[in-house]
Amino acid sequence: MTSRYKEPAPIKDHLNPLDSMMERFSEATSILGLDDATYDALKSPEKTVTVNLPISMDDGSVRVFEGHRVIHSANLGPSKGGIRYSMGVTLDEVKALAAWMTWKCAVVGIPYGGAKGGIKCDPRELSRGELERLTRAYTNAMSTVFGPERDIPAPDVGTNPQIMAWIMDEYSKLKGVSSPAVVTGKPIVLGGSQGRLEATGRGVMVSARSAMGKLKMNPGKATAAVQGFGNVGSISAKLLEEQGVTIVAISDVSGAYYNKEGIDIVNAIKYVEKTGGTLEGFTDGDMITNDELLELDVDVLVPAALEDQITAENADRIKARLIVEGANGPTSYGADKVLNDKGIMVIPDILANAGGVSVSYFEWVQNRLGYFWTEERVNRRADRIMKQAFETVYKASRKYKVDMRIAAYIVAIDKVASTKRLRGTF
Ligand code: NAD
Repeated sequence: MTSRYKEPAPIKDHLNPLDSMMERFSEATSILGLDDATYDALKSPEKTVTVNLPISMDDGSVRVFEGHRVIHSANLGPSKGGIRYSMGVTLDEVKALAAWMTWKCAVVGIPYGGAKGGIKCDPRELSRGELERLTRAYTNAMSTVFGPERDIPAPDVGTNPQIMAWIMDEYSKLKGVSSPAVVTGKPIVLGGSQGRLEATGRGVMVSARSAMGKLKMNPGKATAAVQGFGNVGSISAKLLEEQGVTIVAISDVSGAYYNKEGIDIVNAIKYVEKTGGTLEGFTDGDMITNDELLELDVDVLVPAALEDQITAENADRIKARLIVEGANGPTSYGADKVLNDKGIMVIPDILANAGGVSVSYFEWVQNRLGYFWTEERVNRRADRIMKQAFETVYKASRKYKVDMRIAAYIVAIDKVASTKRLRGTF
């Protein structure tokens, strides 16, 4: 069959995450020789819902917020994916994130399809009451979309366990039954899972260890820089430090902090807890910019903040030997080739940060069983999933002679396409 993948012009980059996702999807489907009908069925979401939510603000005014929920695929099971509260939310971003969830669940072999939601808002400027009303209004509007056997949200950027608790409560009230399995990432007392809060960072660490093994990199002698110090970045940094890696730089929206002797991550986490979520004013390191952090001469780079941080513009200046993508979409399509040519191994988002959705799956299983596991059991099972997924993708990268990202897409698309064929069409 003719290839649908076209080499992009060298200077053109894809800073729209949906374009970036589609380029990789097309490249992987061409290598797989996927038939056109399945390609067409998988390239677009199954369902896209956009709602306008009028909310009473504390000052008596009414503001209308736009929210989305995109179900990319429900082939492997109910769709799964977080909800993002950010001013950067666009429908294209949510579509890309939803498709990534489909591939992510397939790569780690959990029985879910992919979805994502988002509300365009700045959660930091909303009061607790405004956030609660916005979350309940969104849950109401999505009450026929969400469901423990239909579509299961979770936290993402700008949302947290409290917001998941409001979703669970509102949905349960609407349905007249207690329904903890409608959402994951809940507080533990409401049916959350042990280990969920740390699960994504833990998976990043496990993936990094697997990759270091392949690269014959000794963690005790390795250095790392971590961009982003929220849930994923701070836990990844802490667990890598526990593995003996020296974390020489960390960062958040306030800037980046560099200490060539190594930053004490436990201390940095305590600092952020004290300041209410920011590294601003952190003194255990010299201030550098987030761009400089990405280009540091380190062994491992963990982008764990935002999309499109490593692009065709700066990829050539990246010095790390290994990049482990904690964030979703931190590397643009244009950067992939440059990094490959430089021999940098990239563990892609759909593999590296899949620990979170794996433990979300465990949370859903425990909610449906009504029986809860110990943290030790959760971590053991999640580590096993991550290690197996890494080996599967690594083997595919050898078999097809492609990088780890395209290999992960190949593994995922192959699985989703085969279930689609088995299930058939109208
Ligand atoms: P978070 O809101 O807890 O943290 C985000 C961090 O990024 C904060 O420290 C913030 O200050 C920082 N940041 C924001 N803008 C920045 C900038 N310009 N430069 C440097 N740092 C900046 O979010 P999170 O849950 O840690 O998610 C981070 C990424 O990981 C996102 O891409 C998210 O989709 C992805 N992810 C999260 C999970 C999860 O379980 N939380 C799972 C899979 C993927």
